[in-house]
Amino acid sequence: MSKRFDVIVIGVGAMGSAACFHLARRGASVLGIERFNIPHDRGSSHGFSRMIRMSYYEHPDYVPLLRRAWKLWEDLETETGQRILHATGGVYIGPPGSEFIAKTRQSAETYGLPHDMLDATQLAAKCPQFFVPRDWIAMHEQFAGLLVPERAISAHVDLAIKFGAQIHGNERVLEWTDDATGVTVRTDLGEYHADQLIVCGGAWSDRIVRDLGVELIVTRQVWGWVQPKRPRMFELGSMPVWAIVHLDGSIHYGFPLMPDNPGLKVAHHYHGPRVDPETIVRDPQPGDEDDFRPVLSKYLPEADGALLSIRTCMYTVSPDSHFIIDRLPRHERVTIACGFSGHGFKFATVVGEVLADLAMHGKSEMPIGFLGFQRFAGRG
Ligand SMILES: Cc1cc2nc3c(=O)[nH]c(=O)nc-3n(C[C@H](O)[C@H](O)[C@H](O)COP(=O)(O)OP(=O)(O)OC[C@H]3O[C@@H](n4cnc5c(N)ncnc54)[C@H](O)[C@@H]3O)c2cc1C
Repeated sequence: MSKRFDVIVIGVGAMGSAACFHLARRGASVLGIERFNIPHDRGSSHGFSRMIRMSYYEHPDYVPLLRRAWKLWEDLETETGQRILHATGGVYIGPPGSEFIAKTRQSAETYGLPHDMLDATQLAAKCPQFFVPRDWIAMHEQFAGLLVPERAISAHVDLAIKFGAQIHGNERVLEWTDDATGVTVRTDLGEYHADQLIVCGGAWSDRIVRDLGVELIVTRQVWGWVQPKRPRMFELGSMPVWAIVHLDGSIHYGFPLMPDNPGLKVAHHYHGPRVDPETIVRDPQPGDEDDFRPVLSKYLPEADGALLSIRTCMYTVSPDSHFIIDRLPRHERVTIACGFSGHGFKFATVVGEVLADLAMHGKSEMPIGFLGFQRFAGRG
């Protein structure tokens, strides 16, 4: 087995699997190294569904990235014959004055993305699953839906292997070094060399890169799956993905019933308690259900049935909640993608493509300047 590669990718989760695929398809010799199974449920890319929405208000440059990501998700489906993206549409609901809805609408208008504004009566007619106060407002957008993360990672890895990549699961990277001639990666099973290194370590990123220079906060997040009282109302095809926005800025969101796992999935998007990825308690804990149960009883009463499952996942939050995708300062052969701050999965396809650009050509045509290390310069 060759131990010299064009590119080594550390971490074969959402971003690393996509990078392996794009690199291998362009003819690069690639080694992807993952410490757990592929896929697995101990990082940030499990749980059977992730929301994708297009009218991104968080920064204007996310929308061109999302347009490319959506196209690449469709290409991935075509190439593998797998259903990964379910375009259900999306509905975002909240009290009048909700900043999330106002800014999401602005993004839709700026980019000409198909959407409708709804009052509570129109919402009830379009989406009878929701019972909200009469003065609440909603926005429905066409280009939104859900992605199946386990299938996405498997599809990227299958294709990467087809194009010649070597992918090693259950092998842990212990350290890496770089110099003018290349990079060396030492794992618990061996040592490998490459011209370029890409680090996609998720919650472990600052352990893989000790001199990252940016604080990443890892948090414990909870999802619940419940048995709806009237399941037919919540079937895939009968409802969009949804988000209910609260005045404190936190969001509850959820998905239709999915074939891969029983129950209706609901979650709370906020920064949960800080944890260590090595010691996080993944089993359900007392109080976990309180994270999502009240929103069901209040706003989705027909979904408010028995609990089926609780699972946990980790956010890796950057100082400004924007991603970090850049060459590593002081290491010109190393590129990193981390700090996805609980909203990165939908971008995985385009992140893979951008990482391949950076590793092979040192630059990307996509607007990633706002995701670079430069923005942290001068921060204390
Ligand atoms: C509860 C929750 C809900 C979310 N909802 C959404 C959503 O609806 N929409 C959305 O777009 N995003 C969402 N996200 C965010 C999204 O899932 C993440 O941003 C994305 O999956 C992160 O991908 P990653 O590749 O950075 O991390 P991961 O997929 O976790 O990959 C990192 C990999 O590196 C491996 N690794 C670490 N250390 C080593 C080592 N030393 N050697 C080898 N391998 C190593 C890990 O095992 C892991 O597989 C959510 C996240 C959570 C937790």
